[in-house]
Amino acid sequence: MYRLKRKNMVSRLAIMGITNESVLKVMESVPRHLFVPMGLEHQAYDEKALPIGFEQTISHPYTVALMSQAINVEYGQKILEIGTGSGYQTAILCELGAQVFTIERISQIGKNAAKRLSSMKYHFVARIGNGALGWQTYAPFDSIIVTAGAPVIPENLFNQLSMNGKLIIPIGGKEGQILTLYTKHENGYKKIELESLKFVPFIGI
Ligand code: SAH
Repeated sequence: MYRLKRKNMVSRLAIMGITNESVLKVMESVPRHLFVPMGLEHQAYDEKALPIGFEQTISHPYTVALMSQAINVEYGQKILEIGTGSGYQTAILCELGAQVFTIERISQIGKNAAKRLSSMKYHFVARIGNGALGWQTYAPFDSIIVTAGAPVIPENLFNQLSMNGKLIIPIGGKEGQILTLYTKHENGYKKIELESLKFVPFIGI
């Protein structure tokens, strides 16, 4: 049953404009219903965010697809994810072949996600803390993906990007943000505004 739901979800994502074959392929294989609270499994493949406790949500399938596509993950790349949440985006990045480092500020959410991902045999490095600081120990990163809406870009994140590295972050207030992609160059950054979306707020800046 979930297999068919996943297939339908991926067809919908393609219609919505997701073209990256690897992203579509891994989203067809990862069991998203295992990342939502018990009782909500039947809604896991709908195009919506679902509550995961502590006023946080698992992102829409389209949001995860769009962000994963935008950073163009290559095998072996080091990726920092800020806002582990359910761990679904973490799993997608792992499936795309990345080495994933993920930070979550709410201890219980981070622990639940780490437990879930480990039981599914994913390899990743996780920590509880404020992602605004980045993760200097493992920097630089090929990409940094921020899954909560921030009013401004935490400066540390730019500093922890490798040359040609990408930072994807929803910028804006609580009412809505613009998903923005920055690519680091020798003398600055290229900035592309992708879409208006609504994320839960980034806390700590
Ligand atoms: N991609 C995740 C999104 C979860 S929602 C998913 O699909 O499940 C965003 C998460 O970011 C929340 O769990 C929230 O607690 C976390 N968050 C917000 N501000 C943060 C910060 N400064 N550092 C780390 N995590 C943060």
